[in-house]
Amino acid sequence: MTSSYMNELHAPQKVLLGPGPSTVHPRVLQALANPVMGHLDPAFFQVMDDVCEMLREVFHTTNSMTLPISSTGTGAMETACANIIEPGDEVLICRNGYFGIRLADIAERCGATVHVMDTPWGKAVDAQMLRDEIKQYSGLKAVGVVHAETSTGVLSDMKELVEVIHEAGALAIVDAVTSLGGHEVRMDDWGIDICYSATQKCLGAPPGLAPISLSPAAMDVVSKRSTKVQSFYFNLKDLEAYWNQTRAYHHTSPINMTYALREALRMMMEEGLENRIQRHARVAAGLRAGVEALGLSLLAEEGHRLNPLTTLSIPEGVEDAKVRRALLNDYDIEIGGGLGEFAGKAWRIGLMGESCREKNVFAVLSALESILAKEGYEVAFGASLSAAQRAIATFDE
Ligand SMILES: *Cc1c(COP(=O)(O)O)cnc(C)c1O
Repeated sequence: MTSSYMNELHAPQKVLLGPGPSTVHPRVLQALANPVMGHLDPAFFQVMDDVCEMLREVFHTTNSMTLPISSTGTGAMETACANIIEPGDEVLICRNGYFGIRLADIAERCGATVHVMDTPWGKAVDAQMLRDEIKQYSGLKAVGVVHAETSTGVLSDMKELVEVIHEAGALAIVDAVTSLGGHEVRMDDWGIDICYSATQKCLGAPPGLAPISLSPAAMDVVSKRSTKVQSFYFNLKDLEAYWNQTRAYHHTSPINMTYALREALRMMMEEGLENRIQRHARVAAGLRAGVEALGLSLLAEEGHRLNPLTTLSIPEGVEDAKVRRALLNDYDIEIGGGLGEFAGKAWRIGLMGESCREKNVFAVLSALESILAKEGYEVAFGASLSAAQRAIATFDE
């Protein structure tokens, strides 16, 4: 018997339409294949500086503390909480999906007294509800909100929410993992204090880095801590020194991932942020129209639907896993299943970064038509495609 590791790896090309990772452009993969440099090589410092400069543009911020954490998005969630929270601090976490729940869990692990405000799945976090909730507490240090809830497909109005958070004198921690690069995120204009993301969603790089940015006010809070940050790896003051100041060694950077992020960001700059966000809006409008023409319902409330991720109901009598298996095996298309409350009830179709192309909307809709028809679900062939084409063609009108 031979072991499978005897064969060289040839990862198959899949169409990644799940909740991340998303497709990575060959230019980004090519950048990844550059020779490894040392993490203290001045030539690498230039790469780091390029990345930080472009990240500031993407976050729409002048924050000097803007850098990619060596981790996926969850590590950036940990970084935000570990650096801001000291044991006994009171924080409020808005939970309208799976990632809000995770954020509350992490805040609690960092020693915070965590209050939560729950919003039904599929709905956006409401500013007036938050204003009323916040009144119950005094001395809240921070409020955490997920801008784009990837579990439900909902976008909350961050500008409004940050205003409410600041009225209470708290810091706004914003999860922009799925929004950055796919929706507008204006850190400085909206007054966000701490904002983080991840490379494998709308930024178009492989998973492995998680950009984060902190305002000077937030860094002031970090500087004035009376206790040590409990995490060595995610200690922002040390990371700031390595990225922006003394260049002192902290941990070995994922060098090649930094090349990849640089190239992905360069591609974003070439396209233009506005154009990129517009592309996400247009392509997602096509998908939503197609899904509705298929007779499936959208699970996020109207007016708050995410462009990079669409949640839709699984039709009665159709087997979730079977359909997703057919998509993956017969069409090489990956979509996501439901998380948490939506497990077994929802499909999640991502259109993030490089995956966000019209051809992918047509591919997934036609594959779904074929698979659902085989499963006995009544399908008018071509209807979802023409609805999508129409929505895309008339998008700018
Ligand atoms: C994906 C995601 C995360 C977690 O990121 P990982 O890269 O999987 O660690 C956090 N928040 C949101 C909103 C996400 O979509």
